[in-house]
Amino acid sequence: MTVPPTFDDVLAAADRLRDHAHPTPVLTSRRVDAEVGAAVHFKCENLQRMGAFKFRGAFNALSRLSAEQRRAGVVAYSSGNHAQAVALSARILDMQATIVMPHDAPASKVAATRGYGARIVGYDRYTEDRTRIGAALADEQGLTLVPPYDHADVIAGQGTAALELFDEVGELDALFVCLGGGGLLAGSALAARERSPECRVYGVEPEAGDDGQRSFRGGEIVHIDTPDTIADGAQTQHLGRLTFPIIRRDVTDVHTVTDAELVEAMRVFASTLKIVVEPTGCLAFAAVRRLAPELAGLRIGVIVSGGNIDLGRYAALLR
Ligand SMILES: *Cc1c(COP(=O)(O)O)cnc(C)c1O
Repeated sequence: MTVPPTFDDVLAAADRLRDHAHPTPVLTSRRVDAEVGAAVHFKCENLQRMGAFKFRGAFNALSRLSAEQRRAGVVAYSSGNHAQAVALSARILDMQATIVMPHDAPASKVAATRGYGARIVGYDRYTEDRTRIGAALADEQGLTLVPPYDHADVIAGQGTAALELFDEVGELDALFVCLGGGGLLAGSALAARERSPECRVYGVEPEAGDDGQRSFRGGEIVHIDTPDTIADGAQTQHLGRLTFPIIRRDVTDVHTVTDAELVEAMRVFASTLKIVVEPTGCLAFAAVRRLAPELAGLRIGVIVSGGNIDLGRYAALLR
């Protein structure tokens, strides 16, 4: 599917998701506002079903499959939130999901994905190519491949989180969004352009994986090796062919933050807002904290993208 998604696709996705996704809460905090010097609105997708916004894109994409495609089932390769999103969406829509995951994926993630009824196909991440395994399964068994970000229905679905945010709080001066492959950022930008045309939209990625910033500023998709960062949901190697042009057109700039800044943001989420946020979900707020002097007096939106983290690892990071 190569036709780029539009705002109307975001609206249609919101209709499909109405009875299935949580309309997640928007949290505010006087303490945070005083610290940042701005009015910050947190859209809490860590409280979405399966713990991240990825449910929105996966469910929207799966709902659009034909009866024949539904009968054959879907395949995805991911060890993270996209796997669980596809598995849960398939269960709700009564389809079989096959998830290609590395043998050394965290046991909690494998268990969660299997818990949603998915079939797990393991592979060796050092010697085997998951793209090829996924493509072979799609080929041999007629499965439909659901990519994590570079797909029009996935982008449109992800845009429904920002759509809900604007519909709840009205126009904003700036919106900060975590950036991996760009599905969430592109969808959010589509929503912002219609609902709050003056709103500046910023992507935020880990400093160790600044391909998005370089691509945005240079005008060409930059490929990098898998970056070393605690933000495992943003360990992508490049933006997508569909996400990149939307980001170039509708996004204001891309910022980066360090892993140390992610941990500090995670601490504020825990101590002040009383919410558990995974490292990748802290990207946007970490950038707001860093850029606070430039944001004085503004109305700001922050997409808190997910909350899935092993509690032992969470404790170790905060210690
Ligand atoms: C996947 C993911 C992201 C990045 O989303 P993209 O659409 O790939 O840019 C950010 N945060 C969390 C929690 C994720 O799971």
